[in-house]
Amino acid sequence: MEKIHNFINGEFYPAKSNNYLDVFEPATGKIYAKVSDSNYDDVVFAVNSAQNSFDHWSNLSIEKRSNYLINIANEIENQIDEFSEYEARDTGKPISLARSIDIPRAISNFRFFAEFSLSFESEYYLNSNTSKNRIIRYPLGVVGCISPWNLPLYLFTWKIAPALIVGNTVLAKPSELTPYTAYKLGEICKKIKLPAGVLNIINGRGETAGNGIVRHPSIKAISFTGGTKTGKLISAKCSSTFKKLSLEMGGKNPSIIFNDCNYEKMLETLVRSSFSNQGQICLCSSRLFIEESMYDQFKIDFCKMVKNLKIGDPNNFDTQYGAITSLQHYNKIIDYISLARKKSVNLLSGGSSIILDGRCKGGWFIEPTIIEGLSNIDKINREEIFGPIVTLQKFSNEQEVINLANETDYGLSATIWSKDKVKANRIADQIDAGIIWINSWLIRDLRTPFGGMKESGLGREGGEYALQFFTETKNICSLQ
Ligand code: NAD
Repeated sequence: MEKIHNFINGEFYPAKSNNYLDVFEPATGKIYAKVSDSNYDDVVFAVNSAQNSFDHWSNLSIEKRSNYLINIANEIENQIDEFSEYEARDTGKPISLARSIDIPRAISNFRFFAEFSLSFESEYYLNSNTSKNRIIRYPLGVVGCISPWNLPLYLFTWKIAPALIVGNTVLAKPSELTPYTAYKLGEICKKIKLPAGVLNIINGRGETAGNGIVRHPSIKAISFTGGTKTGKLISAKCSSTFKKLSLEMGGKNPSIIFNDCNYEKMLETLVRSSFSNQGQICLCSSRLFIEESMYDQFKIDFCKMVKNLKIGDPNNFDTQYGAITSLQHYNKIIDYISLARKKSVNLLSGGSSIILDGRCKGGWFIEPTIIEGLSNIDKINREEIFGPIVTLQKFSNEQEVINLANETDYGLSATIWSKDKVKANRIADQIDAGIIWINSWLIRDLRTPFGGMKESGLGREGGEYALQFFTETKNICSLQ
């Protein structure tokens, strides 16, 4: 069985403990690889290598660093079909999704920061006849990047690319559930001759490998994407050492649907925003608020479209909906559905696990599930499920829906559907969320800030926000 090792100082090494974790294919429920179960000793080894390479890397011109990033992007692109297969196998997502979203975005992450950073220059403020202020940005040193399992290479590279381009050296940890594309990224770094120690990939569990990265005193910043509970733990650990911290965490995202929207476009997009990647995207809609006057018709049409989703083997290009990424997560989602069944709610669609024939017989599949009849304060509407469950609620006026949408501990994203752009923008201004889409979903300009409010996040990623995070700023003031 294939073994996934750490990538440290430009070479692959097993964990010092020589222990491994099982890696499953969610679509079959079978183990297909073993991944190194690293601990603090491996983190120390990787930090030493990252420190040794820092002077060389940070002193290269930004154009030279940019070339390395472009070479990485080109090489992933050369292997885009293979990478899409790896990602579908590791996560259970349809291969068409990996091929159209995950891997192209990983390529764009490297290309975007390679080009965008060239204009990230020093700033000057001149005060006529008195002073001149020169603002310079330095890399931090060795930084830690920790990412989750839902968009493995996409989110891994979204952190690594900005960290590297400004001159940091990196320890990066993919989720232990989906380590394969990060492993293959290590092979690409070796192939394109990225200087040894610049990017180090540590595998293993959160409480050992992840925690080791968080607590190592020489790591200057942690960029984390994952659950809010984990984010809180990391935040507490970083507070005593004043590490810089960026947290991208959970969500409970509202979709607000007015009867004056473009109905067909809304329905088609809402099916995607609710159930893409089996609802396992932090930006997925989970609480749908529908204007009362259209509620009954919406319910019929939305359920019909969701029932038409093609559920099946992620390897088939016509599959639109695949497996849940881990058995533990599958059980958690089933528990929420059981909870809903115990209440007097209407399960309008789904609500069961699915047993497929053939290769995927043992896979972790759950039907896309639509529930009505739960109030906004019910557990299912308050807690992040991060799976294929959405709830429907009616509203009758703007203020009511703003209150309902904001009545949550989270504040990551929201979507608003109305042809009345003034109204939609007026509502967007009052919704507590870091990312709001009007009449669309998941459109991203990589220059714009990405992140959440309240328990969804701390800080912003993207464009200049990421470059600021991964640098230290100094102001030098001199008299004219
Ligand atoms: P998780 O918090 O369990 O794990 C995320 C990463 O952190 C993994 O690599 C894990 O090994 C590591 N980790 C776990 N415990 C750790 C610890 N004590 N110290 C250091 N590292 C630790 O999250 P998950 O289950 O992998 O991902 C799902 C969550 O991620 C959901 O809540 C989802 O909303 C969130 N998410 C957020 C965004 C965003 O941009 N806001 C994007 C994707 C996913």
